[in-house]
Amino acid sequence: MASTDLIICEHCDGVYRKATLAKHQKTLCVRCGGVLQRYSGMNVQQRLALSFTAAMLWLFANFYPVMSISMKGLKNSATLWDSVLALSQGPITFMAMVAAIAIIIAPAFQLVLLVWVLSFALGAHRAPGFKLCMRWLETLRPWSMLEVCLLGAMVAVFKLAGMLDVLPGIGLFALAVLSLLLIRIAGRDVRDLWELP
Ligand SMILES: [Zn+2]
Repeated sequence: MASTDLIICEHCDGVYRKATLAKHQKTLCVRCGGVLQRYSGMNVQQRLALSFTAAMLWLFANFYPVMSISMKGLKNSATLWDSVLALSQGPITFMAMVAAIAIIIAPAFQLVLLVWVLSFALGAHRAPGFKLCMRWLETLRPWSMLEVCLLGAMVAVFKLAGMLDVLPGIGLFALAVLSLLLIRIAGRDVRDLWELP
């Protein structure tokens, strides 16, 4: 039996043999109930296309304002980077670094790694530095917190809407789609790339 026939539960280290899944099916660990495998209906081409889409959305989310505020003729708008800069000028500079990693740097690295690994997977090869890339994809996943940022931005929009004229910007819509896409393409599904020769 090849080692790729086996799957290890990430929560309790139980070892199982992989199953072939049909649509909407998933396998659970009998010991701890953790999800082992989930059906992924996407092939490499689709995933690569979505990674490029996500990369474009990342550009939109970072270079277009997430929201703009206006009051009595005064206007102000902020991008993700502006929010990190604003944090860095306050008393909690450390938070600025964490925010920059969680909402800008980690997603960017995830996308670069995904495009790199998937481009080679298209030709059924492992990319140069494949193991390192896959490990980093796994390491970066908990650090990439776009969905948290999205929720925060939406709460801010609703809260401020009572006091000021708030307009959600292109950046916010890009952020919303990007965070959903990242969950889909950079999630656990990337693990099946280990099966490449
Ligand atoms: Zn388990």
